[in-house]
Amino acid sequence: MRFPLKLTANLTRYIAAKRIRGEKKFPLVMMLEPLHACNLTCTGCGRIREYKSTIDEMLTVDQCLSALEDCGAPVVSICGGEPMIYPEISRLVKEILARGRHIYLCTNGMFIRKKLHEFQPTSSFFWNVHLDGLERTHDLCVERDGVFREAIEGIKAAKAAGFFVCSNTTIYKETDLAEIAELYAYLHELGVDGYMLSPAYSYSAVMTREIFMSREEVQEKFRQALGLLEKFNLMISPIYREYLKGERELTCTAWGNPTYNPRGWKGPCYLMTDAHHATFREFIDDTPWEKYGRGNDPRCEDCMVHVGFEPSAVLGANPRLGDTWKLLTWQMSGKMGGAGRRFDGGAGPGNGRGGSGRQESWPVPPASPSGELVGPDGRLRVL
Ligand code: SF4
Repeated sequence: MRFPLKLTANLTRYIAAKRIRGEKKFPLVMMLEPLHACNLTCTGCGRIREYKSTIDEMLTVDQCLSALEDCGAPVVSICGGEPMIYPEISRLVKEILARGRHIYLCTNGMFIRKKLHEFQPTSSFFWNVHLDGLERTHDLCVERDGVFREAIEGIKAAKAAGFFVCSNTTIYKETDLAEIAELYAYLHELGVDGYMLSPAYSYSAVMTREIFMSREEVQEKFRQALGLLEKFNLMISPIYREYLKGERELTCTAWGNPTYNPRGWKGPCYLMTDAHHATFREFIDDTPWEKYGRGNDPRCEDCMVHVGFEPSAVLGANPRLGDTWKLLTWQMSGKMGGAGRRFDGGAGPGNGRGGSGRQESWPVPPASPSGELVGPDGRLRVL
């Protein structure tokens, strides 16, 4: 299985109920940003720039929960900012799980070890750790030494304690795909359960434009990437993959992954901000959807990001015969759990593991490829 069965079953039931009721626009994954503050200043991050003036604002847990009820999405991606510095993160997770929703907690991994004891493993909860390369490359991307190592220690601790863990990688113009394949092979050994991958996109809040790709460049890069990484448990649907490789068209369904943050429902999408809306209904009804997407808004021209197009695949925008079968076989053919080894890792008491099988020591991460990552002008060359 590529995802936990419960997640697939709940999602299928939810979509079927919406279709029976004739609803046209409904959310699949709520992007919940309880705060925008972060302990890092990553090169490609738009949030810390766009929300500079409100960086110290936070949602309360009650505001997060009423927004969740407001939209009704079955899956919540808690992001930010760095959600692990949200003071009530464990209570927020507990409350969302108690409402029968599934969570991906998107983090840079710096605080997993410190706060792991506040969370309980369940098949409805994934740690989603952001990693853009091996140690040297990743630390350059996030502009701080030691982040890669701490994130890896966090992943080891979470796996040893019985949690599901996936990783999330952004592909930039200069991403070394062979390095990403090495990173995935290493994470696979650690027992990581799945891999998310998305092209970077140059929206206006990110000033470093030269690291982003045109549509043709994305297609070329993903033809190579998906060939190299196919053997891992990629958590991107076959339909979205076809779109990324330029083998089919999809229309943007940005309402499928709506973003809620301290300023409200962000429209039209996770990337661009033309308005903030007080309620989910206003977000759906007041956003002029026909004005967005390729051919309608120049800012959308090269956009192929997962928040706009992964829901299109699942929601059946531009459907083709055989798509449902493709999605079903894709789910069945995946395998979570990585290499399936058991590592001692000194996780200590309360690590959630039973049994007395043979345990091995954690593998050492490979090094980033040698070569100059910083050009003569002092700018980052390889991301
Ligand atoms: S295509 Fe969709 S997801 Fe991409 S920038 Fe435009 S509205 Fe946002």
